[in-house]
Amino acid sequence: MTRQRLQVADALAAEGRQVTAGELWQRMRRGDRRIGRATVFRTLEALVAAGVARRLELDGHVYGYVACRPEHHHHLACDRCGQVVEIGEQYIRPVADRVAADLGFTIDDARIDFYGLCADCATREGSAPEG
Ligand SMILES: [Zn+2]
Ligand SMILES: [Zn+2]
Repeated sequence: MTRQRLQVADALAAEGRQVTAGELWQRMRRGDRRIGRATVFRTLEALVAAGVARRLELDGHVYGYVACRPEHHHHLACDRCGQVVEIGEQYIRPVADRVAADLGFTIDDARIDFYGLCADCATREGSAPEG
């Protein structure tokens, strides 16, 4: 169980981008045919619960997973290439402070991720399309 957990954590970290549980399973299976789909799904959820992976919502209500540092942070997730960039609290704090002040709400946690196109994909999108 622990070995499999490490296997899944390593495989996810090696991706360096968001992948669905199914994609990760397919890739891991090439190295180890015995690894079960359910094991990968379960382990990804355990990694999320442990704070070393994050679950991001993709188009069509599919979940993508990405390896994460345990410290609090947020993400920029590219819908096109799957690249995920981590951004620090400095971008979110002004918003949280404003909400707290305006609405008198004591904020303990903020889970905010941004979805769109990374700079590379935006550039490609802006250049002449190839049909
Ligand atoms: Zn992260
Ligand atoms: Zn991209």
